Order: sequence, then structure tokens, then C-alpha cells
Amino acid sequence: AAGSIVRSLPRVLALANQKGGVGKTTTAINLGTALAAIGERVLIVDLDPQGNASTGLGIDVPARRLSTYDVLMDGVSLAECAQETVVPGLWVAPSTLDLLGVELGIAAERDRAQRLKNAIAAMVAADGVEAFTYVLVDCPPSFNLLTINALTASDAVVVPLQCEFFALEGLSQLLKTVEQVKAALNPRLGIHGVVLTMFDPRNNLSNQVVDDVRRYMGHKVYDTVIPRNVRVSEAPSHGKPALLYDFKCAGSQAYLKLASEVIARERMIRAA
Ligand code: ADP
Ligand code: MG
Repeated sequence: AAGSIVRSLPRVLALANQKGGVGKTTTAINLGTALAAIGERVLIVDLDPQGNASTGLGIDVPARRLSTYDVLMDGVSLAECAQETVVPGLWVAPSTLDLLGVELGIAAERDRAQRLKNAIAAMVAADGVEAFTYVLVDCPPSFNLLTINALTASDAVVVPLQCEFFALEGLSQLLKTVEQVKAALNPRLGIHGVVLTMFDPRNNLSNQVVDDVRRYMGHKVYDTVIPRNVRVSEAPSHGKPALLYDFKCAGSQAYLKLASEVIARERMIRAA
């Protein structure tokens, strides 16, 4: 309404798949970087106790003064926890191994599933905080309270699937969990898209997986497929996203394409 302050809410996307090693963290880092590169203001929330997203963005363990543990356990604000990364416009709320203790720490609390959602809402409402347009939540490889917090806080889920034989295995369980969280905790939750990762065009199996997943998930699968690319896997050990480590490599270029697809889908969702 006229006269009121219009603060646009960030779009909150969870990178989720209960399987490990499928490209959740790599996608969080590089999709986040690509979105920032095209002018979005992005916060990556590291909800994996392993802290790979934090490390891959150059935030070493000693520099993690405040972490998502403090946010979930002690109500520390996300704005205070977040650190700007080497990428302008990209921030990360880092995690530490302390996160392993959150499950037990908040299990008996009534708001245990809503802790992250409330932290994001508080950040948006706070004065003096520059608004993020995207929040990407990097989930651990399991269905635990951390993942439930991510799904409860999110508008939609981005599902990375590795192009390997067992890609589809576990997907129906993930979809079921998303439906359960939608029914019980977060009516606005949906699947944003499925991103196929580590694609190897010379491998017949990789091609077969792409066909199978497209047949099963239809238009939910992004057109962009992320190739297996050694530069992408080297980048985290330099504390940099692939897009900074080697902008021209096929992996970086694929993540830029994925970012424009994500934004295009966002426009469609908003227009609907
Ligand atoms: P998750 O977060 O789902 O456990 P990661 O993003 O950590 O998965 O990826 C698992 C491993 O695969 C990491 O060593 C990562 O560097 C590597 N990897 C991910 N995507 C690619 C890619 N496109 N090309 C090559 N290696 C990749
Ligand atoms: Mg990970």
C-alpha cells in the first residue's frame, strides 16, 4: 500500500538430496556465485556440519566466529553470522561440526522445525540489513532436523541428481518427504527443479540417466545439464567457486546457464 515500506522477500531455495556426493554443495556455491554475478544478492546458508560450502567459499574454520549452530540453537541473527565471500554480493552463513549437536539440542523445542524460517523472517524484518534476493540452503545428506528446517524455511527445492546408475533411486523418497513437509509444516513448498550433475557425454550411461530422469520428472528437469569437469572439482581446494577459479571452463558456463534458467522460472512463478 502507498506509504508503507515495501521490502521484497528473498526467494529461499533448498539444495536437497539425502544422498551424499550428488553435487548439492557444488551447486549451492556455483549457482550462488552465478546469481551474484548477474546482480542478485545471495546468502548461502550452510546447514551441513561438514561445512564444505563454507570452505569452498574461502571461509576457513578459524574464521567461523559465528555459525549456523549459533543461529539455530541460540537465536543469533543470520545477519550477524553471515560473512561476505570472495564473490561480491555473495554471503555465507558458515557451519561448523557443532551443528551435529543441534538435533538433540532443539529436539524438545516446539519451534524446532521453524528455527531457520524464523531466523530468515527476523533478518528480513530487521532494519539496516541490505536485502538478499536469494537465500540458498545447502542441506546435509540425510533427512534430519536440519533438512526439515531447510524445507520448512524454503519456497522451493532444487534437487541435484548425479548422472549415475542409481540416480533415480531415492528420488521418490525425497519427493515424498517434500510432500510431507508441505502438508505438515510449509504449504508453499514446491520442487523448483531437478539439476543433472556430473554429466559425461562420452558415457552411454550418463545419456541414459538424462533420458530416464526427463521421462520421470518431465518439465521439472532444468534444460541445463552440469558436465563433469575437473576444474569444478579443483576449485574448492582453492577456496573459490569454479566461476572465479576458471570462468571459461564448461562447468562454470553451465552454472551461469543454470542461474538464468532459475531466474526465468522465478519470473514464471511470480507471474502465475
Ligand atoms: P554433495 O554436497 O551432494 O555431497 P558435492 O557438491 O560435495 O556433493 O560433490 C561431491 C564431489 O563431486 C565433490 O568432490 C565435488 O568436487 C565433485 N563434483 C561435484 N560436481 C562436479 C562436477 N560438475 N564435475 C566434477 N566434479 C564435481
Ligand atoms: Mg554437501
